[in-house]
Parts: sequence; C-alpha cells; structure tokens
Amino acid sequence: MSHLTIPAGQGPAGDTTHAEHSGTPYGDSARSSDVHVFEGPRLLRDLADGPGLGMHRRRAPRALAVPPRSQHVGALADLLEAVDLRGRGGAAFPLARKVRTATKAKGRPVVVVNAAEGEPASSKDSVLMLLKPHLVLDGAQAVAHALGASAVHVVVPGERPAVERAARTALAERADTGDITMTVHRAECRFVAGESSAVLELLAGRPNLPVTTQRPSAVSGLGGRPTVLSNAETFAQAALVVRDGVDAYCAAGTHAEPGTRLLTIDGDGERPTVLEVAHGTPLAPILAAVDADADTGLLLGGYHGTWLAGDVVAGLTVSATAITAAGAAIGAGVLLPLRAGACPVRRTAVIVGYLAGESANRCGPCRFGLPALAEALREVAFGTVSSTARLEQLATTVEGRGSCHHPDGTTRSIRSLLRVFPEEVDAHLSGSCAAGDLVGTRTLVAGTLVAGTLGTGTLVAGTLGTQTFDTRAFGIGTVGAGAMAGVR
Ligand code: SF4
Repeated sequence: MSHLTIPAGQGPAGDTTHAEHSGTPYGDSARSSDVHVFEGPRLLRDLADGPGLGMHRRRAPRALAVPPRSQHVGALADLLEAVDLRGRGGAAFPLARKVRTATKAKGRPVVVVNAAEGEPASSKDSVLMLLKPHLVLDGAQAVAHALGASAVHVVVPGERPAVERAARTALAERADTGDITMTVHRAECRFVAGESSAVLELLAGRPNLPVTTQRPSAVSGLGGRPTVLSNAETFAQAALVVRDGVDAYCAAGTHAEPGTRLLTIDGDGERPTVLEVAHGTPLAPILAAVDADADTGLLLGGYHGTWLAGDVVAGLTVSATAITAAGAAIGAGVLLPLRAGACPVRRTAVIVGYLAGESANRCGPCRFGLPALAEALREVAFGTVSSTARLEQLATTVEGRGSCHHPDGTTRSIRSLLRVFPEEVDAHLSGSCAAGDLVGTRTLVAGTLVAGTLGTGTLVAGTLGTQTFDTRAFGIGTVGAGAMAGVR
C-alpha cells in the first residue's frame, strides 16, 4: 500500500497552521500530530492528484458535474437502499430512509454534511475533506438536487482549521450548484460538538451542544424543515453509488455489506492512521499492516467504544454484523489497540477522565455523575479501593439519563473493561498491575493539584483529589482538570 502523511494541522496544499487542541487521552495525537493515510480502492484512491476539482472531474467524468436534478428522489433512495448505505458517523442509520422521510415532510429540505468528528481519536472525515472534498460534496449535492433542497451546510471541526480551509477552497471551486447554496460552518472544539442535535443547534445560531429532540431531523430539523444530516463519509459513499451504479459499488465488500469503509487506527504512542478497507476484510492483517499490536485487546468504536479481548479481535472482520455479534459496534470506525504490556484499566481511566470533562453540563447525571464516575474508576486504577461496587452503582445511575448518549457511551467503555479484563481489574483492586506495581510513591494534594513535575509529566491545576499512585504510571504528558493525558 502506498501512503502519504498529512503533517500536523496541515492540508495537502502546504498550509502550516497547526490544529489547536491538546489534552486528549492520547496526548494530542489525533488532533495535532501527523496523520498517516493509506491509499485506498475508492474513497482514498489517487491521493497524489490532490483535492482540486479539475483532476476530480477528469478522473471521473461521470462524476456529478451536472447533478441529476431530474433524477427522481425515489430513484436516488432506491440506489442508496440497494447498497444498504448507512451513516458512517456512528449511528449507522440508513441514508435512504432519511431521504424518503424528508420527501414526505413539510417544507423545503436542507442537507447537512457533518464533518465535525468530535471524537479526538477519529481522523477519517478530516482526511476525506482534506484529500477528497469533492467526493463528499458530489454526494451532498446529488442528495440536495434530488430532494429539491435549497441549501447544503458543511460543518467542519473547529480544532482542525486546515479542514475548514480545505472545505472553503472546494466550495469556491464549484460553480455548478444551481440554486443550492453551500456554506461552511465551524463546530466548537469539544467532544459532543459533532453530535447531530448539537450540529443543528450550531446551524440555528445557538450553542453547539446536544439537546433533546422530539422528532427526527428528517421530519423537522433546521428551522423546522426536513433535514438530511449525515456524516461526510456517508455522502462520499453516496457519490460513488450515484456515479458508478449499484453493481460497481457492490463489487467490493460482502453480499450483506457491500462497499468499503474508512477506519482510523490510533493508540498508545502510535501515529493515527486512516485507511479504507472493503467490508469483510479480516482485522488482523489490517492492524499488522500499520504495525498495530492488538494482542492485548482493542477499544473498538472510539472513546465511547467497547473493549474486545485480543483473541476476539484476531477472529474479527470489518463487518458491522460480526462486530455487533462480538458485543461491540463499529461506530465511526475508530480502532484503539492496546499495546502489549499496557494497562486497560489505566487506559480506560484516562479516557473516562477526559469524557467527564467533555460534558456539556446540561443534564445533572452527566454533569455530576461523569466526574464521580471518573473518580471512582481512578480509584480502581490506582488501587485505592478494593471493590468496583461504587463504580458500577454510578454507571447505573447515569445510564439513559442524558439528553444525548454521552453518559451511555462513557459507561459502555467502563462496563466492557469490567467484562473483558476481570483479571486486570482484580489485580488493581488488590493493589497491583501487570503494567507496573501500584504501590504509591507520590500523594497528590487534595483539591487543586500542585503545579510542578511528576516523573516526566507536567502537572497542571486539576481536580484529582487525593490520589496515591506510582509515577511509573505516567509517561510524558499532563494531568489536567478531570483528565490525565499521556498516561502510558
Ligand atoms: S448528556 Fe451530557 S453531554 Fe449530553 S446533553 Fe446532557 S449534559 Fe450535555
């Protein structure tokens, strides 16, 4: 496989502004370090062409230079349904169903391309927008034309300014949008900013935070109008179906799950990698191809994901069905391998600490419950408690109690930790850890942490409370408010 590297914060045109985001559980890896991109069979094909519209049209003359405005929306929905195209942002909702619903709702439809991944460990939509923006826009434009929509809104991640510049450049190149206005919007730099209701709030001029919604956005979304909102990759996949037809699309993948999918592989100290694989491809060789070691286990689905044991991962394929059968969900296609010798308990504690800090603070169980949950898990990770009872009780308390799924996603990783790594958890409860002795060598002062250095890390003001832990638990990184980044 050939590949290229997108340097930190850069677009392919040599833009040198770095992304401004740090302090995630994997340091600032996915947000501001290099992203390794492998050439793929479809979406990530011909990467050396660059993102420009000219080469895009030359490569695929049947691409939607003049989108099929006359194409009946029912025909488009049939195409999408024939390949069972589902959202690639996590919810896996069928795109055809959104399109059909929107045609029946009142008002002129709107299309929203959600490229604000929110999930720090995911880079695939940013890569698409940087390298193949016109494929995404082709798909959005095709859906918009078929629906008779008036507008396409493209939402980009605020912490990745190069993506916004790439989107604006691509839109400026397109003069064939007819009466459809296409605009770019910048999401806030936070985990929940990419949640669909939060995206609609942003577009409505309100805070970019999740809200409780009564009706599907395809019925009543932006301004009460039917809104087809989906992930950037979903629209790029839609463009392939419209351009190439069902048979060509189904030439890759499996009968039940045709086509390809983008994955982001990130992990302990690894450079994030984005690659495109056909459904049905075994996971093991994919991980081997990027030198990722998942013998110990893998967190599948990102920070809201599910831990799977190494032997389970070894038998898996890239298949939503197979992954669901294994007790996980492929989500936005984020794979976080746990390298040999690393500690899943500590890793999860770091992630949950980060997620607790990302609450929108609107729902009590999320605002107060997640920090308490993070604290309870830290106590387990540091071996200062002998039972997981409080942890499990807190998890039960917050589940299903938020306006969005942030609390549920957070407890998902904790529950899978307890289920998949019972021996490691028990070891911690007994005061030991395979990745290092937990005998405390430093005590953090209650309340605000002392500023200074600890091991090779740097302490900043935080709210960890009194904790005893071994400095060997920390690599280079920071201990911040409610989150401990850089723990190895
Ligand atoms: S559950 Fe949490 S993140 Fe979601 S809306 Fe409520 S407070 Fe915000």
